[in-house]
Amino acid sequence: MLDDISKIEVEKLENNLFRNKNVEVSIIRLDKIHPVLSGNKLFKLYYFLDECQKSTHKTILTFGGAYSNHLVAAAYACKELGLKSIGIVRGEKPKLLSHTLDTCMDYNMQMKFISRSDYQQKESLDFIQSLLSEFGEFTIIPEGGYDPIGAKGASLIAQSVNNNEYTHLCCAIGTATTVAGLLLGSSSEQQVIGVSVLKNMNDIHERMSFLTKGNSNLEQLIILSDYHFGGYAKHTPKLISFMNELYEKYSLATDFVYTAKMLFAVFDMIKKDQLPRGSKIACLHTGGLQGNQSLPSNTLIFS
Ligand SMILES: *Cc1c(COP(=O)(O)O)cnc(C)c1O
Repeated sequence: MLDDISKIEVEKLENNLFRNKNVEVSIIRLDKIHPVLSGNKLFKLYYFLDECQKSTHKTILTFGGAYSNHLVAAAYACKELGLKSIGIVRGEKPKLLSHTLDTCMDYNMQMKFISRSDYQQKESLDFIQSLLSEFGEFTIIPEGGYDPIGAKGASLIAQSVNNNEYTHLCCAIGTATTVAGLLLGSSSEQQVIGVSVLKNMNDIHERMSFLTKGNSNLEQLIILSDYHFGGYAKHTPKLISFMNELYEKYSLATDFVYTAKMLFAVFDMIKKDQLPRGSKIACLHTGGLQGNQSLPSNTLIFS
């Protein structure tokens, strides 16, 4: 499924701003790996899937909300590999399934809906025990792949991109697992830029220590926390016009939850001379475009 990660497309963006500031910006098109899935999610799943394939139970169990890109990616990957997938979904079962959960169903994921309060206890031993008695043995993947094994998978992204001598690797931060992978896979001269898409995310360094098991140099890491545009999945007219401009100029479609905020941050940093001349910045387009379907239909000039 990710057999040929060396074939990831890279696209350079050209404009007067970048020329004047003497920087290069390249987009790593993880969004092109699959039309529906977020490319980074498959990488985070990589070593979990590997482990599951070697098991006798051949079953993955994981967690997510009704709009979880992670759940869809897990469902898809399991279907591709002939593994069974079980999704523990936050909240009571709605009358009408979200588009995301519908897609999970299409990929044969077995879903169990639990109340929000039960969901908060989902890591407790009691709850895991009850899942084991209900479903039998499985490989468990934490929500969002937030685990050192997920970060190790994401480090493959950096390895596949790194022949190209970038000075900076950049991505959006949700759980921070992908950015931890970039840090693990980067060379010591590189800087890793993470753009938080959540408001008040203050524990990124703790997350890094957990995800990389302390095997990373946090001095290589630059966290940008002022580009969340109001918080997770929030947006402003400024962000929407930026997305439309990117599309007009480069035919580059971005999602408003992650990649658009990350690229806005990179452009803004360059405008403000906060990235040195000579920088060669590789930005991960992580996909997630189906999330744009939640916007009113005339918001974007693409969809
Ligand atoms: C999940 C996701 C991210 C964030 O990745 P984390 O590893 O959780 O930080 C970024 N972009 C897209 C499109 C995603 O679906």
